[in-house]
Amino acid sequence: MKINKVAESRFGAVDYKTLPFGSLFTDHMVVADYKDGKWSTPEIVPYGPMTMYPSSSVLHYGQALFEGMKAYKDNEGNAFLFRPDQNIKRFNRSCERLAIPQMDEQAFLSALDHLIALERQWIPDEEGSSLYIRPFVFATEPAIKANPALEYRFCIICAPVASYFADAIAVKIEEKFSRAAPGGFGYAKAAGNYAGQFYPTELAKAEGYQQVVWTDAQTHSYLEEAGTMNIFVRFNDTLVTSPVSDTILDGITRKSMIALCKDLGIKVEERAIAVHELLEGFENGNLIELFGAGTAAVVSEIKSFGYRGINYELDAAEDAFGAVLKKALTDIQRNRAEDPHEWRYQIKANV
Ligand SMILES: *Cc1c(COP(=O)(O)O)cnc(C)c1O
Repeated sequence: MKINKVAESRFGAVDYKTLPFGSLFTDHMVVADYKDGKWSTPEIVPYGPMTMYPSSSVLHYGQALFEGMKAYKDNEGNAFLFRPDQNIKRFNRSCERLAIPQMDEQAFLSALDHLIALERQWIPDEEGSSLYIRPFVFATEPAIKANPALEYRFCIICAPVASYFADAIAVKIEEKFSRAAPGGFGYAKAAGNYAGQFYPTELAKAEGYQQVVWTDAQTHSYLEEAGTMNIFVRFNDTLVTSPVSDTILDGITRKSMIALCKDLGIKVEERAIAVHELLEGFENGNLIELFGAGTAAVVSEIKSFGYRGINYELDAAEDAFGAVLKKALTDIQRNRAEDPHEWRYQIKANV
């Protein structure tokens, strides 16, 4: 792979004790360009600004999408990714829905491997910290005709991060705004899905919540996702999560946790969860635990939910499934446990 290394790393100047989330990036990035009907071979170049035309199609019609994944280090300093094949496949599903040309899976994985090998020193050692990896693609063609663009740029950038959402959060069950509609692109990691969430989430924040729980767009009576995480609800000793659909993102954390539940003997169901079930569970004491699951926080415990102006406070669960699953998952990610499903991917490139 073609690599243009920086003359001097910025690594030494970074204080890992005060890491901001997602605003500090490593020395290098991957870039590839789509032109004349094909993707160029990805290359590694110094991280830095890029120039583009004001007419770049992404700025007008929003053809942009991303992935989110992490690299981890074990005690010996080996670097790992977690199920990168799943991120790559999902990236291409998102591309298909947004009429963006897909990436070759092998070229994508090889670019990731080389980039992480090169940036290995940036992977934090501390428990809970990791190197967040952000692959993304956007339309660069300088033309404002309302068609799929003919030119795109693909990048992968990396940010060392401490864990975030460490505290249990308060959520609002949303009945007015929707994140995704049937037939739409809620299942894609489209930039626009995030843009549409900011305003309702800001309104919820002004009411004292940290996140919005999205409900189905037609009836607002079924739970879909917790902000940008998949939602899990525990009734007695059964964990329930909404089934994936065109409005619910197929989270890799979510599906890994479902598999881990089966390994650990935790009862797990994928089915629609009605808001009234949550309220009834709260009233009769069957609702034990509520959490969001996603790459960024792994598990984000939900301590209370607001619905029609009333706040429902949950007692902290003993032997919380969220904590059990988070430990089981992070032990696999950090090479501290057996990996029966072959989810770990060890970085191999010599750079
Ligand atoms: C990324 C994302 C998730 C979590 O997916 P993971 O693969 O587990 O990180 C859940 N919901 C939405 C809307 C997302 O964008």
